[in-house]
Amino acid sequence: MKTRSEQVIDQTNQYGANNYRPLPIVISKAEGIWVEDPEGNRYMDMLSAYSAVNQGHRHPKIIQALKDQADRVTLTSRAFHNDLLGPWYERITSLTKKEMALPMNTGAEAVETAVKAIRRWGYQVKGILENKAEIIACEGNFHGRTMTAVSLSSDEEYRKGFGPMLPGIKIIPYGDIEALKAAITPDTAGFLFEPIQGEAGINIPPSGFMKEASELCKANNILFVADEIQAGLGRSGKLFACDWEGVIPDMYILGKALGGGVFPISCVVANRDVLGVFNPGSHGSTFGGNPLACAVSLASLDVMEEEKLVERSLELGTYFMEQLKEIKNPFIKEIRGRGLFIGVELTEPARGYCEKLKEKGLLCKETHDTVIRFAPPLVITKEELDWAIERIKQVLI
Ligand code: PLP
Repeated sequence: MKTRSEQVIDQTNQYGANNYRPLPIVISKAEGIWVEDPEGNRYMDMLSAYSAVNQGHRHPKIIQALKDQADRVTLTSRAFHNDLLGPWYERITSLTKKEMALPMNTGAEAVETAVKAIRRWGYQVKGILENKAEIIACEGNFHGRTMTAVSLSSDEEYRKGFGPMLPGIKIIPYGDIEALKAAITPDTAGFLFEPIQGEAGINIPPSGFMKEASELCKANNILFVADEIQAGLGRSGKLFACDWEGVIPDMYILGKALGGGVFPISCVVANRDVLGVFNPGSHGSTFGGNPLACAVSLASLDVMEEEKLVERSLELGTYFMEQLKEIKNPFIKEIRGRGLFIGVELTEPARGYCEKLKEKGLLCKETHDTVIRFAPPLVITKEELDWAIERIKQVLI
């Protein structure tokens, strides 16, 4: 007789498109930093759904907001106003200190929105000739899986068989200011980057890069656009990963933890001179800005602030990093990160380590084959982190 987990995995393998390679674990319950499989085995979540669950699984305040809103109204479309979109606009623009926001659902959609805004701004404001606008992106980036996002990507695996790609994109090595200078032309409308590359393996640009790049963009009248979908909202130990260099981008792209791991919501935020390029009919989404998402997002931002998750990420992340650096293992090439966003790069595949960590009760996922990513929900306590560190040391030593 197969276990429930085995049955579910069989169904997935038989009927699901084969576009993921998950660890063989089925999650049927979750609370805070803990998840449980149908057989009752408990694991600590060290991935947080790629930083979407920063507030912890099913945070009671966020779930309450979801339930309360579900009893009122869930979807109006944007053909009408809904009574939570206004408050949400005010909240997100005040948090980001920008003038306008545009809500979507997934991260990739927000990236699409940013690319459309960059291009339109290029034509309407900068005066680039129609169809000539260029966007500069970075090697190793991950901006999602839509055609625009994979067109921005330098990873063959993401692009293979999906051409033709979107034109007007230039790729430079991540963190290379000279390459950025060389790539700029009068037709450059925007520079799109991740202040920390999550999927590429927690890559941090060389110190000073963001500041120099932002100044370079300003001097050349180019929009400096930060994809903070994974690194933002406290994950890196600052509200935004751009804050590590005191840099204020022209546009933030946000997602994941904006919905507290409960309901999808993403957005772009920028000033009026940029987002003002959209007019009725130029962009939209049936679900974008729906009242359920707004209610969940407002509660998720409350939790982030009330529970001081940004500060917590910095404090516990610094401690976690110190502890990891004590591990002497010749296969460890580098340990890097900011806040509770840490990558351990190995000189051999990370998958085996992730499987061993799973046996010890810790759920981690390798990224780019050789990096173990540690990104627990930001609500983790020091005691829980110590529990994790003890097990990580047993596996990595
Ligand atoms: N941008 C970044 C930096 C991400 O990390 C991700 C997802 O991992 C995305 C965009 C895409 O977000 P989504 O999967 O919600 O479309």
